[in-house]
Amino acid sequence: MSKKEGMSKKEGMSKKGRPRTERRVRERAARQLVRDRQKLASLERGGSPDHPIDVTSTAVIPVRARGTPCPLCDGSLRLDEETAEMHAGKRLRAAHLTCVSCGVARRLWFEVSSPLAN
Ligand SMILES: [Zn+2]
Repeated sequence: MSKKEGMSKKEGMSKKGRPRTERRVRERAARQLVRDRQKLASLERGGSPDHPIDVTSTAVIPVRARGTPCPLCDGSLRLDEETAEMHAGKRLRAAHLTCVSCGVARRLWFEVSSPLAN
């Protein structure tokens, strides 16, 4: 007579827990919030080429750009690059920014109005 030992012990069979959908719903809500805040930010002055921030000199662009908080986490933005862009026949400057806290990329738009034009 042989005694069989070590019959497969199954421990910790699937614990009854909450389905993951709850977490997924929360994540989706968080993503939606991010989208909303980004949308809101694009409506602010400087958030899109249609609503550029008026400045009198390109020299103030880095100052204004860095003084603008991240729309998502209120962290400070790092100015990566500044480019000249044309939009609807206007010459604009775009500041390419990255949030140092959450890493989101943002662009701020400026229109340089020369005081000599008046
Ligand atoms: Zn951020």
